[in-house]
Amino acid sequence: LAGRPVLLDPNGAALDVAAASDGRFAPDPQALFERWDELVRWSEGQTGNADIEVNETLLGPPTPLPPQVFAIGLNYADHADEASIDRPKAPPVFTKFPTSITGPVAEVALPSRMVDWEVELVVVLGRRSVEVAESAAWSHVAGLMVGQDLSERAVQLAGPVPQFSLGKSYTGFSPVGPAVVTIDEVSDPDDLPLSCSLGDEELQNGRTKDLIFAVPELIARLSAVCPLLPGDLIFTGTPSGVGMARTPPRFLEPGATLTSRIGGLGELRTSFTAGHTYT
Ligand code: ZN
Repeated sequence: LAGRPVLLDPNGAALDVAAASDGRFAPDPQALFERWDELVRWSEGQTGNADIEVNETLLGPPTPLPPQVFAIGLNYADHADEASIDRPKAPPVFTKFPTSITGPVAEVALPSRMVDWEVELVVVLGRRSVEVAESAAWSHVAGLMVGQDLSERAVQLAGPVPQFSLGKSYTGFSPVGPAVVTIDEVSDPDDLPLSCSLGDEELQNGRTKDLIFAVPELIARLSAVCPLLPGDLIFTGTPSGVGMARTPPRFLEPGATLTSRIGGLGELRTSFTAGHTYT
């Protein structure tokens, strides 16, 4: 089943999409977003058919190689405040390179002692989107995932201008999952609780209703500049509680396990080892 797209039912059982559809849908997770509406319609007839017991530690990223990965900085007022930066008048946008994507239960090698956590709501695009109005934006979304915007702060903040894209794109620095949850499956897509913790210690706790630039506005602003493609991701920003802003600053250490949660979407469990450059 490795690498094959599955439908997950609420009990956690899975259905192999390519096999159950007799090949109508290819066994390529990323290709499904090109035909998302058709897939959703087909899936509605599959209730009760899930026949594979899922070992969640073997789930890969639902979007293994997104065409484009947008990310938004300083999108919660309390996080802008803890970073001592004025609340933005336009969303600061960077990219996380697609090769940094990893799955919902993953081990990540720390390149240094300055790797930080940022739990985020991740939006998955379900259709090509050009100059989309805010009022139509949710209809362009395939679904939502939990994401971690892991951030190596030394590289991110080095140089004459910050290198957000590079510092946030080490291998494994973009855990996403555990599934793409469609909008109708959550109570209110504009107000979801998100948090992350190390062991029993909660590090971040917020709600997506506090986004400065909400999902519809982000889609409108980004699609006004470049086409958004099926399967693209938008990391929407993190609430307060990151390690860099603490006194003294705190960062991830080998042996740690970080749990990132969003109500209605599930959780990610990311564990850490010392990479060969970690000293
Ligand atoms: Zn972030």
